[in-house]
Amino acid sequence: MNPILADKIAHAPKAELHIHIEGSLEPELIFELARRNGVALPYPTVQALRDAYAFTDLQSFLDIYYAGASVLLHEQDFYDMTAAYVERAMADHVVHAEIFFDPQTHIERGVSIETMVAGMERALAEAEARGFSSKLIPCFLRHLPEEHALQTFDAALPMFERYGHRLIGVGLDSSEYGHPPSKFARVFALAKERGLKLVAHAGEEGPPAYVVEALDVLDVHRVDHGVRSIEDAALVARLADARVALTVCPLSNLKLCVVNDMTEHTLKRLLDADVMVTINSDDPAYFGGYINQNYLAIADALKLTDDELYKIIRNGFEASFVTDAQRAAYLSLLDAYWHAPQAMP
Ligand SMILES: [Zn+2]
Repeated sequence: MNPILADKIAHAPKAELHIHIEGSLEPELIFELARRNGVALPYPTVQALRDAYAFTDLQSFLDIYYAGASVLLHEQDFYDMTAAYVERAMADHVVHAEIFFDPQTHIERGVSIETMVAGMERALAEAEARGFSSKLIPCFLRHLPEEHALQTFDAALPMFERYGHRLIGVGLDSSEYGHPPSKFARVFALAKERGLKLVAHAGEEGPPAYVVEALDVLDVHRVDHGVRSIEDAALVARLADARVALTVCPLSNLKLCVVNDMTEHTLKRLLDADVMVTINSDDPAYFGGYINQNYLAIADALKLTDDELYKIIRNGFEASFVTDAQRAAYLSLLDAYWHAPQAMP
């Protein structure tokens, strides 16, 4: 693609709204933590682990992802993982991130939510002092029963009180097929009662009907992925009218075979239909790239224009859960950069 536009995208201030912190664990850090914690990994070397990153679908990825997360035991581990993500994100000029984590993955190994949040919070508070703002969103694992999600929500309640500045909502992730959003109606209703922000993965591998359920049954503010929404014209019109953002993750869609080729990605058709699409990295350590690589890969494949890219970056700030004052500040920062990029570093 045009190198000037590529450079402009790379240096633009951005928001990242779909990043699983456990998916930012690079193989080197997985091995370091495994050594530190005496955890045996089913892969003999860093290279063997990387070589296993040849996924055929969402489930084949999740199996390795949960093996990688097994090295996280102590507060310091959650700190190190989060601090490493912050460095990578700041290098890509991310100024605000809304970060998912999966409490159930770690509770199962005896790690308390307090341990997870304390470690992440320490890294994020340090990042805040360097101009990197962030929120945390615990997600429920949809392949487990709703009863588990309800117990997890109960266990997380003191965290929502204590870290209310950071923990602002709940999400839904993991294996989509056979686990429709409606399975989690009760726990989302409880979160809604508390005024929390609501998001859910839907329409990644699952059908557009799951996106409709996420909207109608869970009442989500944003939909994670949602790329299959394009198959339902009424849904596309609804997403556009209601300005419901989709947090699209192009390299993830390619690696998990949601699309066979980046040129077939539905992002541009959604954008043309006025849907508020954003670009994000999902699980960057596993899918071959952080946010800038996601932007560059899809901009190149779909021949996105300067105006389209501006709109997508802008959507990231528009759809973020920041205050109106913060949003206005980010939009001015973006405008100042985008319309006079030669004046910026
Ligand atoms: Zn995701």
